[in-house]
Amino acid sequence: MKYTTVSYYGEFHCIGGSCEDSCCEHWEIDLDEASLKLYMKQKGAFGKRLRECTRVRDRQFILNGTRCPFLNRDNLCDIYLEMGEESLCRTCTNFPRHIEEFDDLKEVSLTMSCPEVSRIMLAKPEKMSFVTREGTDTDYGLKPETPAHPLAFWKREKGNRLDRPLFDVLSPARDYLFLLAQDRQKGIRQRAAALLRLGAEFQEWIDAGEYEQIAGRIRTLQQLGAWPEEESGDLADNVSDRKASPEAGGTSDFMKQPVDRMRWMKELLNMYQGLETIREEWKTLLAEGMKLLYQLPEQDYRSAWQEFLAYYTQREYEFEHILVYYVFQYFLGAAYDHDVLTRVKFAVVSLLVIMELDFAVWLRQGKEFSYEDQVLVAHAYSKEVEHSYDNFEALQLVLSAHPILDTEHIGKVLHNCFAPAEQLQLTNNKDI
Ligand code: SF4
Repeated sequence: MKYTTVSYYGEFHCIGGSCEDSCCEHWEIDLDEASLKLYMKQKGAFGKRLRECTRVRDRQFILNGTRCPFLNRDNLCDIYLEMGEESLCRTCTNFPRHIEEFDDLKEVSLTMSCPEVSRIMLAKPEKMSFVTREGTDTDYGLKPETPAHPLAFWKREKGNRLDRPLFDVLSPARDYLFLLAQDRQKGIRQRAAALLRLGAEFQEWIDAGEYEQIAGRIRTLQQLGAWPEEESGDLADNVSDRKASPEAGGTSDFMKQPVDRMRWMKELLNMYQGLETIREEWKTLLAEGMKLLYQLPEQDYRSAWQEFLAYYTQREYEFEHILVYYVFQYFLGAAYDHDVLTRVKFAVVSLLVIMELDFAVWLRQGKEFSYEDQVLVAHAYSKEVEHSYDNFEALQLVLSAHPILDTEHIGKVLHNCFAPAEQLQLTNNKDI
């Protein structure tokens, strides 16, 4: 079996009791069959405790408030201490690793919902890179599971079987998206917009069954040495010339309307407020951010936003890492469900939400925002969104169907939000 991981994979070590947001709190742990059997036949006082704290029918431990019942006062795991590391269930052994399997390839990422992973990822100014090697689950600290398919609820009617020809096209396509996302000659918004544009194009060809067009498009761009926008025009300006798509509301006139970024972001964050709360800290972050930002007069919001972007120029690589992280994590799963566009949108919208919350924290803190602040926001976002089936599914639905989350709206927000101040004056207050 081949394994692809991020190059800093080996740097991760759980910091256990020192962790400020233990993964043994705030969510249910799903127990695999083998671990459940092992726990239920355990003898003695600890065996009794295991049985008392397990809901066998649901294959879950019964939480003690928000905490795993085996997380002790020192924030250490009693199962680990009593029975040894090898007795941990698959979920606990593998976390914070996220695994996706494609025939003879496993992709193992480290999820940003672990604050230690966020710290490692966000500390690196250099571009994120990936390594593929032969190996075994044990080499990568994993408890074997079969099969580790992408999240099953992210699928279309075509089912959840690997489409190998599509995978063979999407794998190099993702490499190209990484190149675009990491092109530091461009601002982060331009890179995100380019990904979005290509994601929309790829989706049309996938829907038409013309996979080879994806490879051809990338070849053309590479031969021309062109950026997608340069080669075919700006997304926001250009879409009105294209055939109106149902996703765009069926009218090209719509695209002539500017998007009010402030109201669009408020609407988007409102949707996030409607999700299930995993951690109260996230709820507070979101509520405080919205209260602070959306009571500002629009001009103040815009000028503060420009100031925030200027402030962040030297650390733009943090945003780049977040974008690349989401593309690595989810893009290739489209080889199962054929939904590449929602996956790209998810990456871009996640970046936009994290940036908006960063902006709010920066403003609240007297225009200061540290690397540790970014760790807090990024990991809180990931924990809220990536580890709740309900939240993840709800987001997929709105990303694929909500009118303000079509490609054109997101593209226009990306362009407007980074435009020079004089261009921003051109936007008006039209409702989204
Ligand atoms: S969140 Fe990460 S660092 Fe914290 S306890 Fe879990 S694995 Fe360890």
